[in-house]
Amino acid sequence: MSHLLHEFLLAAARTAPHRPAVVEFLGDDRTRVVSYRELDDLVGRYAETLRGLDLEVGERVVLDSDTSASAIAALLACATLGLTFVPVSPETPDQRVRTIVAATEPALYLSAGEGARPGVEGGFGVARFGPDGCEILRRPTAHAGLPARPSSGPRREVAATDIAYMIFTSGTTGRPKGVMMSHRAVTSFYRGMLTQRIVGPHDRVATTSPLQFDFSLLDIGLALASGAAVVPVPRARLRWPRRFLRVLRDTGASQVNGVPSIWRQVLRFEPDRLAELRSIRGVLFCGEDFPLPELRALRRALPEARLVNCYGATESMAASFTDVPDPLPPELTRLSIGFAHPGAEMLLVGEDGRPIEEPDVLGEIHLRSPALFSGYWRDRATTDATLVPDPVDPGSGRRVLRTGDLAYRGEGGELYFRGRTDSQVQIRGNRVELGEVERRLLEHPAVTAATALAPRGPDGETELAAFVVVAPGAGERETEAELTDFLAAALPAYMVPGELRALPALPVTANGKVDRAALAQLTEAAP
Ligand code: ADP
Repeated sequence: MSHLLHEFLLAAARTAPHRPAVVEFLGDDRTRVVSYRELDDLVGRYAETLRGLDLEVGERVVLDSDTSASAIAALLACATLGLTFVPVSPETPDQRVRTIVAATEPALYLSAGEGARPGVEGGFGVARFGPDGCEILRRPTAHAGLPARPSSGPRREVAATDIAYMIFTSGTTGRPKGVMMSHRAVTSFYRGMLTQRIVGPHDRVATTSPLQFDFSLLDIGLALASGAAVVPVPRARLRWPRRFLRVLRDTGASQVNGVPSIWRQVLRFEPDRLAELRSIRGVLFCGEDFPLPELRALRRALPEARLVNCYGATESMAASFTDVPDPLPPELTRLSIGFAHPGAEMLLVGEDGRPIEEPDVLGEIHLRSPALFSGYWRDRATTDATLVPDPVDPGSGRRVLRTGDLAYRGEGGELYFRGRTDSQVQIRGNRVELGEVERRLLEHPAVTAATALAPRGPDGETELAAFVVVAPGAGERETEAELTDFLAAALPAYMVPGELRALPALPVTANGKVDRAALAQLTEAAP
């Protein structure tokens, strides 16, 4: 099997050309099915048009689109030509697109809309694509960042070590960084993922993440490399539980992938309608902890479905796939992130730099994997701090990914995520794990979601604050009043937040993860 992204994902176009590759929801009970052959043809046509621009392998192409058959064809056309695609989505704010364009100096702005956005300027070319083909609106005037090719020399072929795509992290794990993933890294990851047999050729994989979040690329790879179909869920529908469920029903989705927050409103307002969707056989979630009360509700609504907890970071797309225990034991307080997918290994490293094998000892996850990113775009120092010599055998020349994630082992060696190294904060001189506070909050029967943070107050002191969402029917004020006592009964006083509030919903980032920065703005400590 090929190590090139486009060849890897379009293999089914040779073996099963008539099978559906993408099923698009068009509204009003209508769907559009694009077969593998049609997708392959579209990739060929787009690539033909883009080839006319004579861009070099490694030049960047900003790809501005929602997930669709055309967008998948566009990214595969870029891969075919060795162009590094940098996905953004219509939801990405203009300011952020400007920052990404300034950083990556693209040769081309490729969009499903009308071309480049207002105010996004540069010497890049502009093209738009759709079901009928790809159209060049403006040729590039400046090519940045690559040595000029001798005019007579042939264009070189794309290699597995070339960068297939670059994703800017959302910044929940620090300032945004351009993560460069090679063809080899992403196809190695897909290979590891496929061994988990999450879907088969007859599945339809609903994808809910925006294109600039690599979870969408995971979904596309999971579906296409399995010979299954991708079902892009229009993002606006996610906010409306009935409309979201309607997409799943009309498209016959059998596997639904997304961050935990996509389920929040559905479980709150439409659990019965969800339970009627018998076609759903699997749910894969990724990106953050699934609050256990909500996960139990999901399990009740979909008792037959396989629920998979996928752990990982953009720097390797994902590291592990772990089945949620079925049934979910009532005494369970923490989900396992298991073991790395085949071909990779999650090491746990203590503060002394040595690997931890015994249970219950906290360490930082380091990932050994053929699917590691190639580095952060033009950021040598951060790359070196993240791709570090293998702590077990530093002389081996092997580099591992230092994740910044804390975990401990269970009795069987499996890992349990315990938050990020930077979620350990100092409160009046005491070390506090924000995840511990959240976990205790979630043990209260009225709480369905909880986030703790440690904003710095006006006097410079770090204070604990917590936000919760309460179950329908439970009073917000009553629960707020009870929670302080509930926490104090189990935790030392310095771990009990001075500010504790119930909200109707937790704000989320563009990627659908809890937006801690937005919550910090709501605290009394906010300026
Ligand atoms: P950003 O959020 O900055 O865009 P990522 O999407 O790469 O960056 O975030 C990766 C981080 O998300 C991981 O390092 C980990 O902290 C968290 N994470 C990912 N999957 C899980 C999971 N299944 N359970 C708990 N935390 C997770």
